[in-house]
Amino acid sequence: MALIVQKYGGTSMGSPDRIRNVAKRVARWKAKGHHVVVVVSAMSGETNRLIALAKDVSPQPDPRELDVMISTGEQVTIALLAMALKDIGIKAKSYTGAQVKVLTDSTFTKARILGIDEANMRRDLDSDTVVIVAGFQGVDEYGNITTLGRGGSDTSGVALAAALKADECQIYTDVDGVYTTDPRIVPEARKLDRITFEEMLELASLGSKVLQIRSVEFAGKYKVKLRVLSSFEEEGQETSGTLITFEEVTNMEQPIISGIAFNRDEAKLTVQGVPDRPGIAYQILGPIAESNIDVDMIIQNVAHDGTTDFSFTVNRGEFARAKKILEEQIKQHVGARAIEGDNHICKVSAVGVGMRSHPGVASKMFRTLAEEGINIQMISTSEIKISVVVDEKYLELAVRVLHKAFELDQASAA
Ligand code: ADP
Ligand code: ASP
Ligand code: MG
Repeated sequence: MALIVQKYGGTSMGSPDRIRNVAKRVARWKAKGHHVVVVVSAMSGETNRLIALAKDVSPQPDPRELDVMISTGEQVTIALLAMALKDIGIKAKSYTGAQVKVLTDSTFTKARILGIDEANMRRDLDSDTVVIVAGFQGVDEYGNITTLGRGGSDTSGVALAAALKADECQIYTDVDGVYTTDPRIVPEARKLDRITFEEMLELASLGSKVLQIRSVEFAGKYKVKLRVLSSFEEEGQETSGTLITFEEVTNMEQPIISGIAFNRDEAKLTVQGVPDRPGIAYQILGPIAESNIDVDMIIQNVAHDGTTDFSFTVNRGEFARAKKILEEQIKQHVGARAIEGDNHICKVSAVGVGMRSHPGVASKMFRTLAEEGINIQMISTSEIKISVVVDEKYLELAVRVLHKAFELDQASAA
């Protein structure tokens, strides 16, 4: 008998029929003699609908109130799944994040989990009850409802698995595993049977939304056995999805590149003609950091006539705010010539642990993009990834040609 945590995403919970299907799948795991804790998302589209409604009433909704509101999507699905399970004779009980006590900090809309109280869940599991927990939400030390950032139910699932020391955390979604890139963009993308934790962490942080980055971080920290699977496979036809492994890669056949990630959510700001002197990066980025805006890539160009251009990227949602700070504080106080912004860029990245031992990946990537006439605006690298910023109109083309150039569509690369 094992303890399994299963997380079902929005599409998997998207209609009464699908919820009944989830109940049947949970029942099958139960019938095998396992203890099951289920974490669910809101029905697909619901969180977007709630956010749009809030913004319709208040253009910049108060974050505390927004969390009170957007956490309701998951409160609906926990109850529906519990009802569906009871209807097929399975004991089940639903819990909101606060009822479990998923304790978080007070950073509304992107709170971090600080601890999880296992007592209620353990008691139910001991009495053979399926525990159903609302994903994406928690409660802070003052009793305020918090949410964990978009896609946060993945993190709820892995955090619960870590707290309960579950034997496995299964993330059920609308694809049957982690692919070499988003199969919606490249139909030739292949499912990976296994992917290393390090690679998954990079892919998630570079935009592959199949797993929320924090869920992968949790899995790494607490060594949770994590698997991505499809909730749409019929009984008896199930595959084993993709396992996120912690083992060192010793296989000589390991491909150099394991996947291509992309992120549309980027914007670039350039401060033109700043004096080229020590402290300039700090003077520009200090006020941005103080406003809690995360900076991703940074480039400082070679100086001409004692001045230089300084560019960096931010999340597209923070573009207007960052531009305003530059215009109001930097241009005047630091003495820049102009501020230029571009919120039609995207980031495309190649990820693979094989890069460590194979030089030439960067040049292949740059040549492939050049052959398509795609201009690279910024570059950043780490040991196992290379990212480029390009105009967003080239996103799909860039992903497709890189996927092909690195032969990710070839079965032999597995
Ligand atoms: P859920 O609602 O189940 O959490 P998401 O929409 O958040 O599902 O994540 C699943 C989606 O992630 C897939 O439908 C797919 O389009 C996208 N995706 C992006 N990159 C990848 C990848 N490398 N492998 C698989 N899916 C990916
Ligand atoms: N419902 C939330 C969202 O849409 C959380 C999740 O689905 O993981 O972001
Ligand atoms: Mg998701």
